[in-house]
Order: sequence, then C-alpha cells, then structure tokens
Amino acid sequence: VGPLVKVRDLKMYFPIHSGLFKSHVGDIKAVDGISFDILPGETLGLVGESGCGKSTVGRSILRLYDITGGTVEINGNEIAQADSNSLRSKRPMMQMIFQDPQASLNPRMTVASIIAEPLDEHLDLTDEERLARVYELMDWVGLNRAFAKRYPHEFSGGQRQRIGIARALALNPKFIVCDEPIAALDVSIQAQVVNLLEELQDRLDLTYLFISHDLSMVRHIADRVAVMYLGRIVEIASRDELFAEPLHPYTQALLSAVPEPDPDYERTRKPIVLQGDVPSPANPPKGCNFSTRCPKVMDICRQIEPDVFDFGDGRQVACHLYADNTAKTAGSTAGQT
Ligand code: SF4
Ligand code: MG
Repeated sequence: VGPLVKVRDLKMYFPIHSGLFKSHVGDIKAVDGISFDILPGETLGLVGESGCGKSTVGRSILRLYDITGGTVEINGNEIAQADSNSLRSKRPMMQMIFQDPQASLNPRMTVASIIAEPLDEHLDLTDEERLARVYELMDWVGLNRAFAKRYPHEFSGGQRQRIGIARALALNPKFIVCDEPIAALDVSIQAQVVNLLEELQDRLDLTYLFISHDLSMVRHIADRVAVMYLGRIVEIASRDELFAEPLHPYTQALLSAVPEPDPDYERTRKPIVLQGDVPSPANPPKGCNFSTRCPKVMDICRQIEPDVFDFGDGRQVACHLYADNTAKTAGSTAGQT
C-alpha cells in the first residue's frame, strides 16, 4: 500500500507588511520546504519546540491556510491547490483535534449540537438518524448520553476534549491531525485521552499526524517521528530508532532532556544544553538552519543547506555530518518508507 498522506516541498510563508503603505517587506517562513509520508493506520509524531512550525504544518495540510507552495495528497486527493468547492467535498475525510477544547467549542451550543454540526453541514439526516449518530459518537468517546443537552462549561477539560474528538469523528474521517491534543489537560487525565485516541485509531482505522512538544508522549503513541527545527524537518525515523540513536545534532539535544526509562543509561547520559535562541523564521541563517546553535557546526554548515540524506528503511537526516556515510540523497521524497 502507498502512503495515505504525501507531502512534498510544503512551504507556508506569512507575508510581513510594514510602513505607511503596508508594503510587503519580507516573509515569515513558518514552514520552508518539508516532505513526508504517512502510511495508512500509522501515527507520525511531529515534534519540535514551540514556534518551529509544527502546528502550521498541520493546519496547512488540512488547508486551513492557503499554502505558499508544494503538494499535499490525502487519500488520493490533491489538497494543496483544491478550490473551495472541491475542498468542501474533501473536508469529511480530514479532520483536526485542537489543543484547547475550551476555545474550540462554542459555549452557547449543547454537546449534541456541537457534535452534530459537521453532520448538519455535510449530510441530510432525519432527526432520528442525527440523534442516533450523536449517541453513537458519544459512546465511542466515553461520554454519557445523558449529557447530550448540557453545555461545554459543565464539563471537565478531559470531557471537553472528548466532545472535540466526537465532533472530529462525526463524518468518518480517514486522517486526523491531533495538534497538541493533551497539552491543555491535567497530567492525570492526559493518558486517558491518549489511550482513547489509540483505541479509536484501531477501531476506525484512522491515520494520525500527532503534533506535540511532549517527547515522552510521542514516544508512547507514534510509530515514526519527524523532528522539526525552524521550519524544516531535520530528521525522520521510526520511533525506536530515533529514541535509541538520534542522529541529527538537534534531535540529540532535544532527546537529551527527556527522562529515560533505563536508569543505567540515564546516569551515563549528559544533557546537551543549546546556546543562544532560535533565530527568527523571518530571517533564517544561511546554510543549515541549526548552524547558529549546533555544537558540531562546521564551515560548510554556514554556507550550504544540507541535503536530506537517506539511510534506507525510512530514516532520513538533514545534516552535513552524514554526507559521506549514506547511500543516497533523498531529495524531495523525504519521509518515504
Ligand atoms: Fe550542525 Fe552542520 Fe549538521 Fe547543521 S549541518 S546540524 S550545523 S553539523
Ligand atoms: Mg498506533
């Protein structure tokens, strides 16, 4: 089987306007040429510090923005250039679960009407069919049917996220972008929501892009992981490979801060503290985007952007350190497995 999601050279720039005449003075390069695949039924984790562009990736590939460049294919449908009519017909198969259930639920709507909103927009159901579907969705996410007439403020954060998940499932999607779906929740209920997402994935054959800054959580849920830094993917690998042996210097630094389940390994490992701040995406450094902070920076890094090197078996690293010991350059097929 081929990938369900295929992203090539995705670019999302936000123009900067300035001065009396609001002239276009530059671009914030939030996403600057990234490529990856997600296989059917797979969870691809997308990690990186806040501001690295990972949420923009999720929103771009679902066309919540008009994207600047590249191609996006989801379940055989071209998304990047689709017009609003064809986009509307494709909405049901691709959905999003947002970080903050509080902000994404209309406080004046009942749970039933929130969950039914996508049904009302895309289907023509009788009242009985509509209610039956709402109840089914509430069952799936573990919400008591008796709560159907209540309002979002009457629920806990975890329950509100369940409402958001039910709404995202209403139209039988194939692909769901989970954008920090547990970051706003109490630690005590994060695991419940993650377990629910995994359960639903198995039951409904869902494919996830799971965006998170929480590496322990990504380690738990993702099959493969893509690491982003300043608008680019620096490394893609299977979850196990990435955590066992990160290759990109940025991934190494990021993972060095994650608590390690093996205490022996923990004691021998030193946290890598990066110097300096992340540069502005409006003015990224020449050459490698990580060159201003990389502990292993070389002269070439400040001049030439590294290619994406392919180690076979789906592992890819964008770093000059690996120019000599790999078979080939992946070019625009980064993320392909
Ligand atoms: Fe560091 Fe150079 Fe590799 Fe960039 S290309 S991550 S600066 S070693
Ligand atoms: Mg899974």
